[in-house]
Formats: sequence, C-alpha cells, structure tokens
Amino acid sequence: MAEQIEQKRLLVTEVPGPRSKEIAARRDEAVAAGVSSGVHAYIERGSGAILVDADGNHLLDLGSGIAVTSVGHAHPAVAAAIAAQALDFNHTCFMVTPYEEYVAVAEALNELTPGDHAKRTALFNSGAEAVENAVKVARLATGRTAVVAFDHAYHGRTNLTMALTAKNMPYKDRFGPFAPEVYRMPMSYPLRDGGRSGAEAAADVISQIEVQIGAENLAAILIEPIQGEGGFIVPAPGFLPALSEWATANGVVFIADEVQTGFCRTGSWFACDDEGVVPDLITTAKGIAAGMPLAAVTGRQELMDAVHAGGLGGTYGGNPVATAAALASIGVMRDEDLAARARHIGEIITARFGALKAELGSIAEVRGRGAMIAIELVKPGTLEPDAALAKAVVASCAAEGVLTLSCGSYGNVVRLLPALVISDELLADGLDVLEAALRANC
Ligand SMILES: *Cc1c(COP(=O)(O)O)cnc(C)c1O
Repeated sequence: MAEQIEQKRLLVTEVPGPRSKEIAARRDEAVAAGVSSGVHAYIERGSGAILVDADGNHLLDLGSGIAVTSVGHAHPAVAAAIAAQALDFNHTCFMVTPYEEYVAVAEALNELTPGDHAKRTALFNSGAEAVENAVKVARLATGRTAVVAFDHAYHGRTNLTMALTAKNMPYKDRFGPFAPEVYRMPMSYPLRDGGRSGAEAAADVISQIEVQIGAENLAAILIEPIQGEGGFIVPAPGFLPALSEWATANGVVFIADEVQTGFCRTGSWFACDDEGVVPDLITTAKGIAAGMPLAAVTGRQELMDAVHAGGLGGTYGGNPVATAAALASIGVMRDEDLAARARHIGEIITARFGALKAELGSIAEVRGRGAMIAIELVKPGTLEPDAALAKAVVASCAAEGVLTLSCGSYGNVVRLLPALVISDELLADGLDVLEAALRANC
C-alpha cells in the first residue's frame, strides 16, 4: 500500500527541478519530438489532486490528465481493483474468450447514460476509437455516409477523427488527406456569434444541412454537448435539443461525444442530462476508468445491433484491468456523489472568477458547467483572442506548482478540470495562485 500523500501543494525546487531536467534531457534523445508535454515535471506518484514529481515537489493538479482522473489520482478503491484484476488475469481478448467485467461495464453504461430505451454497449481503447466506431454504426444502420461535425470540435487524432476535428494546428497540419463525407457546421458560441439563441443557431445549422448535404444523405450529427479542446464552449440553451429533435425526425443518428464531459464532470452523469437530450449514440472515455485506457459507444439497441457479428471490436478493447478500474471508478462516483461535488466545485470557481471578470478587462467570459470551467482571455475592450496571455497564465501557475491547461481554437482559454474529490481548501489554494497569475499577467 502506497503511503498517503499529503493533500497540500509544496515546492522544494523550481519546477521543473534538476532531477526532472535530467530525465527531460534523456527524453529529448529518446522520445519523438511530435509528442510534447506542457510542464516538464516528471511525475513519480500521485494521490487525490496532488502529483509528486521526481524532485519531490507536490504539484496541485487542476487538469486531471485532461478530465481523466476525476476520482483523484490512485484512488485506493480503483488501485485495489486494478491490482486484484492484474493478479487474476490481464488479457484474453473479449473476442476470443470473454469475461464478466466487460459485461458489467456495458450494463453500467446502459443504465447510466441518458434515456431509458433498450441500449447496447461496445468497448474500445480511446476516445478517438469510440468516435470512429460510433460513425461506423451510424453509417451501417442508416445506409447513409455523410457526417456533420462542428466548428471548434475535437474528436481525436486518427484519420477519421482528424477529419472531424476542427483545428488545424497542431492536430491536422500536413497529416492529410482526410476522410471524406465530413461536413462542418457553425457551433452555437454565444460569446462570438452575437448571442444568437439556441433555436436560431440550430435553425441555421439545419438549413445549411438541407442545402449542402440533404437529410437523406446524412448518417449522423456528431457533437460535444460542451466542447472540450475547442474552448469549453457551452451552446446556447435549446441548441442541442433542437438538433436532436430534427435528427430524430429525419432518421439521422444524433451522436453525443461525451468523452470529456461524461462521468459526473459537468455535475450530472452526462452533460446531455442537463438539457434532457437523449442521444442515439454516446461516446465515452477519459473519466470512465481513472486513467486506464478504456472507451465506449453506448446506444439504441436497434442501431448497435444492426452491425453484423465481428463488425466491431479490437484486440484490447474492454481490457479486463481497464474494465475493473471502470467498475471501481463508477462505484466511487456513485458512493461519494461526485456529481454533487462537481456542481459545488463549479459554484466556487464561477463565483471567484466571475467577480474577477468585473475587474480585469482581459477576461471575456467565465463559462462551463460543474467542474469543467474555463476563462476566455481577450485584448481588453475587444473580442480579439489573447493566446499569449493564456500561455503566460498557465506558465505562471506551473511555476507555482499548479497545473492548469489551455485550450480553444484560438489558444486563448484557460481551463480547469480538477479532480472531483479535491477539498475546498486545496481548490482555494489553486484558485489563489490562478487569480494571482491573472492579475500579474493581465
Ligand atoms: C479527448 C477527446 C477525444 C479523443 O480521445 P482520445 O482518448 O484522446 O482518443 C474525443 N472526443 C472528445 C470530446 C475529447 O475530449
């Protein structure tokens, strides 16, 4: 059993320290340059919202490995489940000889995801793989090929998901040609679309779909209910329900990509729950298994079961250790009511930075939901994105041992994705550092 790590930020060297720098020098000689890191502190241990680096610095993690370790680092219940499963067996390939944990995760997802219709689930390794498979299912079930994705969307880095992702640099640049039959539509982005209502923004999308694609050719509308990498863009109320209703009326599969928003992050099990939207297919990953690679597509039984036997799968998809971790993580979320914790965290962050927005002209908007809150930064008095400021703020925080992430199509958004188990005290410490960084750099 690992020793308990005190839930306190503590710096004993600069960040990164000398030991991390030694490893970084080895990395430069060994790891491909295309794989980059935000902060070059090499991590040795973690617990809750604290990561301990190779120099003994206790870093406060407000990014959770991009919304993955929602139950905290090395949660004892999850670690125990992983260890127990690792001692039993690590792999058979579910397509060769199955095991109960896979079935139990499918049951849990069928129960927890929005809607009480009959559902089926298939498991994969990554968010991108889940999105690819959701598109495969939608195309096969509808006999149509076109897929709609949105401005600012992020769906992954494989060939099809690069096509679905909006942002060129760094995700797509010179990696083409990309998969065909992907159509991009305008996202509801209240800060930057003149504050159009959800209904107006959806009507525009629907009219463009009818003009450019034709409903009869459209297999799926794929959307993040709150966009993640794109800048935590929350569409105006009514946008998602209007698109979902139109999809249903036109035989189009509505796919919610909840890879980042899922598993209590936004204060509900899934972000679609907040507007009563019931997607036909939902993709999940990130928060599902506390860091073990696991992803899923869950959806209407008639869509999922349209696929012929053997049409879905993969060597590792639904690996037994990953599924054991998922069952334990879901148990923690349920037992500790982490959805309520996420709402509480969201209130604290929004109150703090909402007040600061009144003072600092560089803050254009504080937005998000639950423990998924971002600050969009601009040149004061304009909507001109200030990516340099976001970068400086993230760097200032890292130097103080607080890990935050930037995002946004324009790179000008600072986002917070703390572990849902973070204490109010530790969160306040992190927000103090972020506030000071904003004041110092604005
Ligand atoms: C991260 C992310 C993906 C891709 O997940 P990977 O596991 O990195 O492949 C897809 N969709 C959304 C919304 C994401 O945030």
